[in-house]
Amino acid sequence: ETLRVELDDRSYDIVIGSGLLPDTGKYVAPFARAAGVVILTDSNVEKLHLLTVEASLEAAGIPHRSVVVPAGEASKSFASFESVVEQILAFGIERSTLIIALGGGVIGDLGGYVAASLLRGLDFVQIPTTLLSQVDSSVGGKTGINSKSGKNLVGAFHQPRLVLADTAVLDTLPKREMLAGYAEVAKYGLIDEPDFFDWLENNAEAVIARDGAERKHAVYRSCAAKARVVSQDERESGKRALLNLGHTFGHAFEAELGYDGRLLHGEAVAIGMVIAHDVCAAMGMAPAQDTTRLMNHLQAVGLPVRASQVSGVHWDIDRLIGHMSHDKKVRDGQITFVMTRGIGKAFTSREMDVGKMRAAISRSCRAD
Ligand code: NAD
Ligand code: ZN
Repeated sequence: ETLRVELDDRSYDIVIGSGLLPDTGKYVAPFARAAGVVILTDSNVEKLHLLTVEASLEAAGIPHRSVVVPAGEASKSFASFESVVEQILAFGIERSTLIIALGGGVIGDLGGYVAASLLRGLDFVQIPTTLLSQVDSSVGGKTGINSKSGKNLVGAFHQPRLVLADTAVLDTLPKREMLAGYAEVAKYGLIDEPDFFDWLENNAEAVIARDGAERKHAVYRSCAAKARVVSQDERESGKRALLNLGHTFGHAFEAELGYDGRLLHGEAVAIGMVIAHDVCAAMGMAPAQDTTRLMNHLQAVGLPVRASQVSGVHWDIDRLIGHMSHDKKVRDGQITFVMTRGIGKAFTSREMDVGKMRAAISRSCRAD
């Protein structure tokens, strides 16, 4: 199935299906010129899926080279950016060389930024291989790397020419990574699609367990939701902010742990989305049973729902709140919060009851 992201002359297709990887050559052929393609991937995906992509380019007669970086967030660094750029330039590229980012969000962000930078902008194709990257990071054109001062602080908007989301590649993804990506899927239901959340309550297990119709449907609905928001607000001035549901809180936990893997991004988002619903219920704007319903669902699939579930950490509430005000989403010294009137009814606001927020964060951090 194909979805279109409408962005004037930068519009592109997202192709979603099972077993697309062996046909990569066919899909990228319209964007590949004589100069060929450079595939960027990481050391895990290299072992599992690179050969399939290379063989398919070979079969389509498309010249190709590959660059492999170590798996993990550390590859979104200046050092790795430099190394990748130098390796690609050493191949002798042209303006018409196509970059393919084959991997999770790390590869998509790094590869997109490399493509944006090389010769002031090469075309690139996203082949996301994690659930998170299929439903979130590969769509929208945000690319970039991390700085010592924080995550994603250096980057560019650079839209891909095509996104190929092959749901079959998720069969090799570790369960924990799958669940972390699932938190972002649930997020789309929570924002403004209560019917999708209802559907997920009945089908999440199938989405996670196997490459079937349910998984394809979940990826499709998620990409459609993200594409819709991106088309309306490419550079995040308004509506796109809703995609940060649970993220202001989630980022605080991730930052406090120094992004060391004890808490995956999606896990932090799951915890953060619960806090967002909890504080809105405490402020009297959302039904308390929606918080319970959300917690039950996330817990049922196997995601953490409270910060206290991260073992061996004693959270300092003041420090967590400190991290929130250092978030990139802060404008003119004010934080834009994604609030909710209940499941499927999110909205943005700068008005937050700080006392109730502190209490909600404390509830999340307290073991009980
Ligand atoms: P990731 O790219 O590190 O992938 C997670 C792990 O799964 C890695 O170890 C990877 O090697 C492995 N992996 C990938 N595909 C696999 C497969 N098919 N089978 C087995 N293993 C596989 O992490 P991620 O969760 O995909 O992405 C996180 C990154 O995405 C962060 O850097 C985050 O900042 C970024 N992000 C960007 C956006 C955006 O809009 N640009 C949005 C959300 C997140
Ligand atoms: Zn996220």
